Amino acid sequence: MNDKRLPKVAVIGAGWSGLAAAAALAGKSELVVFEAGKTAGGRARSLGRAVEGFSFLDNGQHIMLGAYHAMQTLMKTVGVDFDKAFMRLPLQWYMADGLRFQTGILPAPWHIVKAVLFAKGISFGEKIALSRQMRALQLRRNSEPDKTVAQWLSEWRVSRRLQSGFWQPLVLGALNTPLTSASVNTLANVVQDGVCAGKAAGNYWLPKQDLGALLAEPALAWLKRQGVGIRMGERVGRLQTLPGGRVTVNGEAFDAVVTAVAPYHAAALWPKETPSALTSVLDGYAYHAITTVYLCYAEPVKLPAALTGFAEGTAQWLLARGGLGGDEHEVAAVISVSDALSIRDSADWMAQVHADVKRVCPDIGEPLAGRVITEKRATVASTPNRQRPDCAWLHHQNIYPAGDYLHERYPATLEAAVQSGQAAAALLLADWRR
Ligand SMILES: Cc1cc2nc3c(=O)[nH]c(=O)nc-3n(C[C@H](O)[C@H](O)[C@H](O)COP(=O)(O)OP(=O)(O)OC[C@H]3O[C@@H](n4cnc5c(N)ncnc54)[C@H](O)[C@@H]3O)c2cc1C
Repeated sequence: MNDKRLPKVAVIGAGWSGLAAAAALAGKSELVVFEAGKTAGGRARSLGRAVEGFSFLDNGQHIMLGAYHAMQTLMKTVGVDFDKAFMRLPLQWYMADGLRFQTGILPAPWHIVKAVLFAKGISFGEKIALSRQMRALQLRRNSEPDKTVAQWLSEWRVSRRLQSGFWQPLVLGALNTPLTSASVNTLANVVQDGVCAGKAAGNYWLPKQDLGALLAEPALAWLKRQGVGIRMGERVGRLQTLPGGRVTVNGEAFDAVVTAVAPYHAAALWPKETPSALTSVLDGYAYHAITTVYLCYAEPVKLPAALTGFAEGTAQWLLARGGLGGDEHEVAAVISVSDALSIRDSADWMAQVHADVKRVCPDIGEPLAGRVITEKRATVASTPNRQRPDCAWLHHQNIYPAGDYLHERYPATLEAAVQSGQAAAALLLADWRR
């Protein structure tokens, strides 16, 4: 791709990885973004405002962290006002039926040491054990043989109470993978770059707005102002490589292409000559579902904490919108790895989550409205030694994959998606200039 003009580039997919790639390529390429859906945002998209009795609905309740640096950079680029977009709160662990701790004013790492030592709901011995387990993860290197978190917990002889009140909700929430198949090295990366990376990194960034307002809409508006072509509702078929290195996207030739789609859509997009060694990595992936249950009540919902968890419940986390500056009658429940539960229909989901809400708000009436959203393949499972596809062959064809499944250190998250989009754009531009 040795040329002095700006490359003509297509970004396929306007999820968070595609938007990140597009923002990094804008002004440095003649750029077109193709998105099959009607709205941008991908799995982290808005489903609408003032709908079905709710102030807004998203494809799923998302929780971000201060450690999401690439996300923050992208948002700053496209002009997101953090104060308007997020409620930023110091790390707090609040299990309605167990372990509770709150980080305070001490500098890192003493803020977390003190929080655990003053924790409620566990014995002194468990506090010491938890501190040692956290320290072991902090010091763990990726070169150590990977294993499941369940194996690691068993080696540490972790008590049932610590498992159900801390490790299980942490692993389900962060990796969307059950303890029996979750990678301990990936968990260690999350702990190291999150809570152990300093006070700010462990802060919760809880969205006050819907996911469209949070990123997709400001990003699309910014990209349009940079002269980027946006083609919503245009699904791209299989890419074709042309002699000379160009790639056709729905019949139009481009110098380079970023495929920013979910792993289960990538193989259908890559050229038919793509080596099977590459696509078979994706074929081997397992996925887990995430269910979000939204309930709306006649009364304001007042939860004991911004993120109220249950060690033993259907809802793993409850978030009241009122506590985030939104509609005080609405509550969202997050259930990671929801495919492991045998709850069949929406009415059952709502009844079970309502029962959890009643545990912390005993006087609340029946919900006036409810909506259950299950994303069956929410994220690829973060299993030990999960393979990432070696994309060298595609790079050689001027095709640059991006997406949450490609990150070497992180589970499939928004930060992984944004970092991979930015990395794909940087590699594309470096190859073009070479
Ligand atoms: C319910 C739920 C809750 C979650 N909670 C959290 C959380 O709390 N914190 C967190 O960090 N992460 C969370 N995640 C994960 C996060 O949403 C994803 O990691 C991230 O959105 C993935 O972004 P992506 O760009 O890699 O892929 P996607 O979001 O899948 O984007 C791919 C885009 O490509 C488009 N596309 C596909 N094929 C084509 C084609 N042929 N032509 C054109 N366009 C195409 C799709 O329509 C889509 O818009 C959650 C996910 C779900 C589903």
